Amino acid sequence: MLRDSFGRRLNYLRVSLTDRCNLRCSYCMPPGCPVGFIRRENLLTAEEVKRLVRVFVSLGVEKVRLTGGEPLMRRDFWDVFNGISRLPVKLNLTTNGVMLRDFLPGLRGRLHHLNVSLDTLSPKRYARITGGSRRDFYRVLDAINTALEMDFPLVKINTVVIRGFNEDELLNFVEFARDRRVAVRFIEFMPFPGNGWGADKVVPVGEMKEVIGRFYPLKPVRGFSEVSRDYTIPGFKGLVGFIGSLTQPFCDTCNRLRLTADGCLKLCLLSPVEVNLRRMLRDGADDDEIREAIKRAVFFKPKGAENTVRNAERNRRMVAIGG
Ligand code: SAM
Ligand code: SF4
Repeated sequence: MLRDSFGRRLNYLRVSLTDRCNLRCSYCMPPGCPVGFIRRENLLTAEEVKRLVRVFVSLGVEKVRLTGGEPLMRRDFWDVFNGISRLPVKLNLTTNGVMLRDFLPGLRGRLHHLNVSLDTLSPKRYARITGGSRRDFYRVLDAINTALEMDFPLVKINTVVIRGFNEDELLNFVEFARDRRVAVRFIEFMPFPGNGWGADKVVPVGEMKEVIGRFYPLKPVRGFSEVSRDYTIPGFKGLVGFIGSLTQPFCDTCNRLRLTADGCLKLCLLSPVEVNLRRMLRDGADDDEIREAIKRAVFFKPKGAENTVRNAERNRRMVAIGG
């Protein structure tokens, strides 16, 4: 079992399958963002991803999330997915949903949770925020509705809230959960290199909750998620949750490790510190040596995300880390 120096048990691994994406969300990968892509030869192969995940599972990881970039863009997605789904883990996926519909039959019954990112319910605004088309917007909606018809477990909708951008849609998103088995999770805007972050663009979750609470009675539910504070609303099929990574960080109970698309172990989303496991793999290290390196590294997991804004400039882009 992996424990860090603060006694936190690390049993959740988030894997970025690629830093490529079919969208260009303005807060994540804005056009003209100065930070480049990972060189193709440095991206982990399917075999390397599967092997590293196996090693993490042998160390007590019980939950794995596939993310990116856009994980469904990997040509060998099913190779990776099938390999990991054979392991004794709860397997989760985060996607922008554009390509999701065609993947649903293969994913059915095999995911613990499906997360779909959607920051607006307006097709026109969607095109502006993501650089995708209005058609892409309807593809995402269609995929969410189809997943629900196919009886996927509660679908989580990730919505990053940015001041002056989409904060006027909070109530529309709450309504989205009225007749759907979805958990809409409002996320604070976080800083990453070149993503146009500014403190003035952050809508604190306290404020979001206050605005929503004026119109809807929010009743807390516990134990649904480790990071979001979730609420039911009487008469609603879905839930509403808030992820306050900046104003209400969950560092004390953080159980997360991250594997970047080029095989580096990151101990904290908001810290630039990493350990290059790809190099070890390619230099011929065996599983025991990799296990030892992971055990040594996790001991240095930071207590909390101090200096978040200063660190952001030295950090990687979200797509490489795996959001
Ligand atoms: N492409 C997939 C997607 O959009 O769901 C997976 C990768 S994306 C980086 C994962 C999540 O990170 C998305 O829900 C996205 O909205 C969120 N995200 C990206 N940049 C962010 C930022 N600066 N602050 C908060 N959340 C962010
Ligand atoms: Fe792509 Fe997801 Fe980033 Fe948007 S948030 S640019 S969909 S990786």
